Amino acid sequence: MIPETPTVLVTGGSRGIGRACAVMAAEMGLSVVVNYVGNVEAADYVVSAINLSGGRAIAVQGDVGVEADVLKIYETVDAFGTLVGLVNNAGVIDVASRLDEMSAARLERMFRINVIGSMLVAREAIKRMSTLHGGIGGAIVNVSSAAAYLGGGGQYVDYAASKGAIDIFTQGLAKEVAAEGIRVNAVRPGIIDTEIHASIGQPDRVAQIRDSLPMKREGSAEEVARAIMWLLSDDASYTSGAILNVTGAR
Ligand code: NAP
Repeated sequence: MIPETPTVLVTGGSRGIGRACAVMAAEMGLSVVVNYVGNVEAADYVVSAINLSGGRAIAVQGDVGVEADVLKIYETVDAFGTLVGLVNNAGVIDVASRLDEMSAARLERMFRINVIGSMLVAREAIKRMSTLHGGIGGAIVNVSSAAAYLGGGGQYVDYAASKGAIDIFTQGLAKEVAAEGIRVNAVRPGIIDTEIHASIGQPDRVAQIRDSLPMKREGSAEEVARAIMWLLSDDASYTSGAILNVTGAR
């Protein structure tokens, strides 16, 4: 059954990889809920661009690491259409540090947003999409990172560990809901040209490490979004529990 307004929620859809996913999902004919946390201008820009090109999008503010915000985000989703997909993309990194320099508050924030946030957002998606709950099924794509296998030593072991958790979460959840019409997959982006690198304290990081990358270049948000869109689509109908590296060679 195809619903009247099949809808995808993209967390962190205002910038970077999430923005590219929001635009591509709209091009695929999906209604798009663009979540953001603080940058309302960026979110409004994406929503306007989609609506001006004939698509259908709405912005919703909310911190995925706060349960009440997640419930609020889903109030917007429920009013906008029938959820068929989730791009579980919102994530943060922090300034490059060793573990012996990291505060408990930093660790708590990292895991609250990257891990608990992704789990809460997926939980609410399952309540809506699972055939067990009267839904019609759907697909979840979690955004992990190459850091999950590289480890982030000397820079961000906290971030890497949070993404390692996303990988295992993806595999377990895929099995949990496989018989309920929901596929759960993850992508692991490598070095992608977005604004996230500024929050490591190294805005020119991409240029600095470009030559050491396998393809001698960084990836674009669109290159990651294309992989996410494949996993979201029916073309990936027998793919679940997969973790796809989008790293230009592992
Ligand atoms: P980005 O350009 O910094 O964009 C981050 C997005 O997430 C923004 O839309 C931001 O909203 C939103 N966001 C941040 N914290 C949030 C929260 N607590 N609740 C809701 N939304 C929140 O990041 P990106 O590079 O596109 O990264 C997207 C995902 O890819 C992340 O999970 C990241 O870990 C992963 N990743 C990125 C790379 C890379 O090289 N770029 C590599 C591997 C993995 P506002 O606009 O409102 O701030």
